Amino acid sequence: MDLGQPDTNLVSELLLTAQYKSSIERYSTILNMVLEGVSLGEILHSLVLLIEAQKVGTRASVLLLSDDGKRLLSGAAPNLPSEYNDAINGVAIGPNVGSCGTAAHLQQRVIVEDIETDPNWIDYKSLPLKAGLRACWSEPIFDTDNRILGTFAMYYDTIKSPTEQDLHLIQEAARLASLAIERSRGLHLQRLSSKIFENLPIALVITNEQNAVLSANPSFIKSTTLYDYNNKTFDIKAYLQSSDQDLIDELFTFIHRGHSWVGELKGLKTVDDIIDIELVVTVIRDSLTQQNCYAWMITDISARKTAEKLIDFQNNYDQLTGLANRRYLFKKLQILINQSTAVHGQSQFSLMILDLDHFKQINDSLGADNGDEVLCRVGKRLLEIIPENSLPCRIAADEFAIVLPGNQTIEKLSVFAEQVKAVIGKEISISNELLSLSISSGFATFPNDASSAELILNCASQAMYNAKASGRNCYQFFNQDIQLEAERTAQLHFYLKKAISQNEFELYYQPIVDPISGKIIKAEALLRWSHDGKFISPDLFIPIAEQSGLIVEIGEWVKTQAVMTAIELKKRNLIIPLSINVSTLEFWSGDLQKRFLQYFDTVLETLSIDVFPYEMITLEITESLMMKQQSEVCEVLSLLRKRGIQISIDDFGTGYSSLSYLVNFPVDQIKIDKSFIQKLETDSRHNALVEAIVSMSNALDLTVVAEGVETQSQLDFVNQLNIPAVQGYFFYKPMPKADFLNLMLLN
Ligand code: C2E
Ligand code: CA
Ligand code: CA
Repeated sequence: MDLGQPDTNLVSELLLTAQYKSSIERYSTILNMVLEGVSLGEILHSLVLLIEAQKVGTRASVLLLSDDGKRLLSGAAPNLPSEYNDAINGVAIGPNVGSCGTAAHLQQRVIVEDIETDPNWIDYKSLPLKAGLRACWSEPIFDTDNRILGTFAMYYDTIKSPTEQDLHLIQEAARLASLAIERSRGLHLQRLSSKIFENLPIALVITNEQNAVLSANPSFIKSTTLYDYNNKTFDIKAYLQSSDQDLIDELFTFIHRGHSWVGELKGLKTVDDIIDIELVVTVIRDSLTQQNCYAWMITDISARKTAEKLIDFQNNYDQLTGLANRRYLFKKLQILINQSTAVHGQSQFSLMILDLDHFKQINDSLGADNGDEVLCRVGKRLLEIIPENSLPCRIAADEFAIVLPGNQTIEKLSVFAEQVKAVIGKEISISNELLSLSISSGFATFPNDASSAELILNCASQAMYNAKASGRNCYQFFNQDIQLEAERTAQLHFYLKKAISQNEFELYYQPIVDPISGKIIKAEALLRWSHDGKFISPDLFIPIAEQSGLIVEIGEWVKTQAVMTAIELKKRNLIIPLSINVSTLEFWSGDLQKRFLQYFDTVLETLSIDVFPYEMITLEITESLMMKQQSEVCEVLSLLRKRGIQISIDDFGTGYSSLSYLVNFPVDQIKIDKSFIQKLETDSRHNALVEAIVSMSNALDLTVVAEGVETQSQLDFVNQLNIPAVQGYFFYKPMPKADFLNLMLLN
């Protein structure tokens, strides 16, 4: 506590008149000083002088208890030598620590008539003796709760015992000191709290039941224009009018019952500036008026709320499109499921999952920025057509979802799916290119298809994958078949991963013959997988291998086996080229293209051969790979072709109608798809088509292979067109390597 510097004028004035003062006068002198706000140091100083004036030869001192209650600190001792005061300052409270230390310790008066001989001074007596002090009487100072505040001491330079009057005087001095200390401290605290009130960065206003403002701090006055400064009134209900009505009702119910209330509301900074506030209302009973008063502590939390909103946005929304994200979708599904009231046979909501077709190609060819732009436009287009109350989301790169609440029927959903197809299908112009997008989507409905958010999402995704698998640009509804299919796929994938290491693959060979002579001129290598004693069709497992990327490793295994067979054939002087099927997925990325080429460079070492039999290998690729028109793909194939490998277009006629690639692409042969051959007998238009393909191939100098010839009449037709190579069950079915080699030796 700040004891302040004594005011010398005031002190000398007191000193002059002190001698003549009675006990009452001394009391009122001290009380006046307290009320006038004189510092405690000055008051104690005056008190000491008053007492000293009362009894000649007295030198008095006040010591104050330290904050930790363990020591005594100088309060006032204007007439004791300063060296002595310095030595005493901070003395520990305890037994035999001079008169004052002992008095504070025992909490009772200690009278020492002769310092020289008194045991209380045994360890300290040199200090007072050097200062010429011989006797010291000390009176503890207590507060109104009887806690010790310090000591008041009277010193003499001779051995002295107190008279009855002296004892009265020292007792009175201690009481006056107590009054001064307590009152000063109280006032100090009051000033401190009012300073805090004034400078508090939180708006604080105290009102009564009639909205009269009893007190308002500057922060409050600045915080709102709704405070009527002139009339000192504050209409709290008007201030809170933009808040949730239920919360306001709760607040007033609470405070009218005398309870405090804490909560977040909206406050009016001005009539049209609403801010987020945290409000703490405390009810105080005014002892004067016997009325309830309310202390309203108002903190502006707008900044925090804005930050919270931002965090909430980042957590729940997709930055790119502004649509809800996967996390939010999940929450929404959960809420809908929790709210659902099961009405028998009625759906509660449907989930649609949409995936852009071939988005990766757009991203690869136009760049990620344009890819992002495409996604934004798709998001906007969805917003244009979605029904009210539905929630559009972006849940992965090019995957969107829409939650459609309410009872959805297949008919309603189909209409909506068509609308989506139409709006997404409109051409988009991106960096001077016109793109036409398509989307594959899947629907699942709660609770008909699944009962949890996770499963619903799963079901809709499976339906969407099914739509992709059945040619894209379409939609599918989830059903049990899709479920079974998905389970089977997952299972097959699991086993497929281990098929190479478990030796479950085998390469079969299907001869390709000259239809006139019947001689075997080529053969196609076809992969066979038998798992657990059962044969699994490549039409089933190849797509799974492609989707999972396993096809790359599998493709390399197939090539190695085929090359080994080619070498064996060559050793026996049988120059029979082998066709190897290559998946488009093996050319998916630049890395894969590099790996594909590298394979041919390293296989020599793997197989410990000197010369690779390039002329014995034909690669069968599909039209879709050619359509990619990627110069990189073209480069890889041209390079291999230069080394002697032949390139054949598989399943010709089933893919795209553009034939220009045949001119530009490094191609040697086309294979007419078996679906054409098999429809020859029933559909005359197919005859025309096959005829056209053959004459075009002849013009382009490409060899033609007819695939899937099963009957004599199909063979007759093929022969009419002078097709030079035929593959089909009519001649041979695919067979194991040993059978094929035996057959070749007989050929
Ligand atoms: P693909 O390339 O069109 O292969 C020809 C398919 O037609 C083979 O079916 C073959 O057994 C079948 N086939 C041949 N002649 C006839 C016939 O007269 N009638 C009928 N109905 N079918 C005939 P497979 O072996 O079941 O292969 C199916 C598809 O799996 C292949 O179609 C090919 O796309 C893929 N595939 C097979 N092996 C491999 C491989 O090693 N790598 C890759 N990437 N794909 C492969
Ligand atoms: Ca083939
Ligand atoms: Ca084929």
